Amino acid sequence: MSLNGISELIEKLTARGARTVALQFPEGLKRKAGEYARALHDTGFSVIVSGDPCYGACDLALETLASADVLVHFGHAPVDNQPRVIFEPYRVDFDPSVLEKALPLLSRHTIGLVTTVQHVHLIPAMEAYLRSRGFDSRVAPGSGRTPHPGQVLGCCFTAAKIPGAEEILFVGTGVFHPVGMALTTGLNVIALDPLAGTAEEVSSEALRRKRFAVMEKARGAKSVGIIVSTKQGQQRMELARHLASLSPDAVIVTMREVSPDELLNLGFGCYVNTACPRLAYDDQVRFPVPVLSPQEFEIICGRRNWDEYAIDEIP
Ligand code: SF4
Repeated sequence: MSLNGISELIEKLTARGARTVALQFPEGLKRKAGEYARALHDTGFSVIVSGDPCYGACDLALETLASADVLVHFGHAPVDNQPRVIFEPYRVDFDPSVLEKALPLLSRHTIGLVTTVQHVHLIPAMEAYLRSRGFDSRVAPGSGRTPHPGQVLGCCFTAAKIPGAEEILFVGTGVFHPVGMALTTGLNVIALDPLAGTAEEVSSEALRRKRFAVMEKARGAKSVGIIVSTKQGQQRMELARHLASLSPDAVIVTMREVSPDELLNLGFGCYVNTACPRLAYDDQVRFPVPVLSPQEFEIICGRRNWDEYAIDEIP
């Protein structure tokens, strides 16, 4: 990200009468912190940078905001209403004609188009490209946790539930979002990485098999920790209470960062994750004991059938 948006940001801060400004960046943009801090400082603002890890707008630096007038949160769209926070987008451009790579994999006429927040500004251009190639594209309106039309999050696939869509085209990086959408919608999902210029059809079968194995392992656990996040946009205490009521061996545990070491130290035989839904499914994190989603715990407690398996979302 260049500092091109800095003038507009200074205008917004001035209009709010801010004097002390807190800055928060996701992991991939943290190295921009010094440049932004300097630019704002030179304009007369007092600046505090949050150095804690940040993976989403669910995790605002409210402690840092307590010492400032305004928090500027970079790179994510809001997941709820936060009057003292300015959300600064991080736009990643590409030529919409890269969608050509996905065309041979599309087998239907009416295509639901979804993407992540970095690319939502290109939705109209992508739709125009699909129309020019003879497809009917559909884009869901923004809602709640995903305010931009066509935007999905790892915890919210609402934008993929598009009436009339026969197939989904996901434009973005990684396979977690498209696998989640395939599970949620039951539709064929094509994933196009617009930066690498590669496209593939995704399947949710591997995820189902892997999760089934984790659930089988969890059945033997003598104690269950129901994890509740203390991050304000991930906290689902009501859900945790419901889950804890399903087993006499279950205890609610609040945590800020959910890590393999912390789970090992706590010593429960298995955990149920009500924090960021991606945590339980993430292949990159090697948890020492089974970590289930809420729906998976309901299945092993006999409160849900296996054929009602669903990926966890925060509505
Ligand atoms: Fe992203 Fe997880 Fe937060 Fe959802 S809960 S916004 S997927 S970090």
